[in-house]
Amino acid sequence: MGFNVAIDGPAGAGKSTIAKLVAKEKGFIYVDTGAMYRAIALHLLRKGVTPDEKDRFAAECADADVTIRYVDGVQQVLLNGENVSGLIRTEEVGNMASSSSVDKDVRAKLLDLQRNLAKENDVVMDGRDIGTNILPNADVKVYLTASVEERATRRFKELTEKGQECDFEKIKADIKERDERDMNREIAPLKQAEDAVLIDSSDMTIEEVKDAICKLICK
Ligand code: C5P
Repeated sequence: MGFNVAIDGPAGAGKSTIAKLVAKEKGFIYVDTGAMYRAIALHLLRKGVTPDEKDRFAAECADADVTIRYVDGVQQVLLNGENVSGLIRTEEVGNMASSSSVDKDVRAKLLDLQRNLAKENDVVMDGRDIGTNILPNADVKVYLTASVEERATRRFKELTEKGQECDFEKIKADIKERDERDMNREIAPLKQAEDAVLIDSSDMTIEEVKDAICKLICK
């Protein structure tokens, strides 16, 4: 069994940025489970499925095989053998992932992949249900959050810096909608595990959050 660090929290809380830094400092691998849900979402979108066609999710994702590999320490997500890492970071794919991740077959598809990675490696794994469902015995659990306003501001800056046109109010509304769906779904909803340490990063720098989590890791 590897040493397992689970980081859960809502969209835009900075989980992936922080998890990558923690993994690098500790020499662990970083497992981005959101990317796996995004790969399935891309598969569904390619088949012409829309986010409200819930009854098509299970059947249409049956032939989606998601795997990951590491190239120079960076996670790549493969969908039926194709590296789709560069195609999954759009708002369209994110919104589809938020809808399709509600489905029990979609979630079941990714469960073993995530657990096996944690069994075989020292990992920092981020997502929505890692501490509560995927790795209930994780050595360290963190629930990382920030205010909706702050998360929307960060996302707006990130997109603007990439040169993408975006609307702040729309981003904020999308974040609220995703929170609502992730926290209220029937299977593996987003919530803080009882034994997770709560970190609110609204007024913290990236470095401060990283240090706070590294201090929790006795390895
Ligand atoms: O974290 P990211 O925004 O890449 O995740 C995309 C979507 O996948 C989330 O909005 C969430 O609905 C879903 N997800 C999930 N469980 C995880 C990781 C992501 O349901 N462990």
